[in-house]
Amino acid sequence: MSTNRIWLSPSHFSQNELNFVQEAFDSNWIAPFGPQISAFESELSQFLGGSHIAALSSGTASLHLALIILGVKRDDFVLCQSFTFSASANPIAYLGARPVFVDSEKESWNLDPIELERTILNFHSKGIHPKAIVFVHLYGMPAKISELIGISKKYNIPLVEDAAEALGSEWNKKKCGSFGDLAILSFNGNKIITTGGGGALVCADEALADKARFLARQAREKAPHYQHEEIGYNYRMPNILAGIGRGQIKVLDQRVAQRRDNFNRYFKYFKSKESLGYCFEFQNETSLSKSNRWLTCILVDPELNKGITREYIRLELEKENIESRPLWKPMHMQPVFKDAPYFGSGVAERLFEIGLCLPSGSNLIEEDFDRIFAVLDSIFI
Ligand SMILES: *Cc1c(COP(=O)(O)O)cnc(C)c1O
Repeated sequence: MSTNRIWLSPSHFSQNELNFVQEAFDSNWIAPFGPQISAFESELSQFLGGSHIAALSSGTASLHLALIILGVKRDDFVLCQSFTFSASANPIAYLGARPVFVDSEKESWNLDPIELERTILNFHSKGIHPKAIVFVHLYGMPAKISELIGISKKYNIPLVEDAAEALGSEWNKKKCGSFGDLAILSFNGNKIITTGGGGALVCADEALADKARFLARQAREKAPHYQHEEIGYNYRMPNILAGIGRGQIKVLDQRVAQRRDNFNRYFKYFKSKESLGYCFEFQNETSLSKSNRWLTCILVDPELNKGITREYIRLELEKENIESRPLWKPMHMQPVFKDAPYFGSGVAERLFEIGLCLPSGSNLIEEDFDRIFAVLDSIFI
């Protein structure tokens, strides 16, 4: 194929990263230790409004440490949003704990508070107290935060906020990543900003962040020799990658604006097609929530759209070398989690069946949109 591939969500660098990487080289701090890490942690903290940050090797590692810090152990039950990427749930399995999957609600597509409470009561009736709740702001859209916090307080179960996709999103004028008892971020290559690979644990106080840094550096006790009293992990972010992160965080607000522009373009485009007898659904903001619109997603119900399926659209785009992707396949439908309990009423299943993520990079250019809309024009006639 002669045309360049349009990717779903490619990395997008500014001009700043190499300066900080150069600093890391010049200071000879390349290892998972050094000044770029603490600078990146304090810049992130500032961005989030004062939380305490441990920069780690990935979002998945951050979730793993979050659950360890909350005391999740073998055979504990952990409630988890079913409609998400597997990394939200895998760390539960790393610990030998048992994931319990809960459905989403229709507005934000995130953890349904009503279904969550029903699940907790069901477990309480069996004399089991779940150990933690993992919820997600999927595709950048803030979940129903006040309801989830209310349930967490009412039943005394800590909240782990998976904000891997939601850096720069806001709820009630506060940044996502600052609501859970612990929260996690990801700087994987496809996220809104990247360090190549990396993540962070967001904590309410410095003691917790210190605990995470300690566990992430092999749980080395303070001693001249190597002394270990707990099992440790090699999860710290390398100094050189923190340098890339410092360059990226400078353009984070710009990236959010660019991704929100993408959404508005798609939204206008699809709305204009509705006069031809089509009907599309989107992930909705409320008066309190602002999404970073990491990915623009659309629901295309074939019954309301002359039989056109999301898979047909995906394949037509693919023919023109344009990447799109079905929404996350819910965890309770994944073979690897087939034995885990699930509470829900089919919301996540329907989203997976009819939902498509569209190319959403912050570096999409005019000609990219021309190519994308040309394919869509040929479908929605
Ligand atoms: C990307 C992602 C993660 C994991 O982050 P990594 O840095 O790739 O380990 C976790 N949860 C969600 C929802 C994600 O999208």
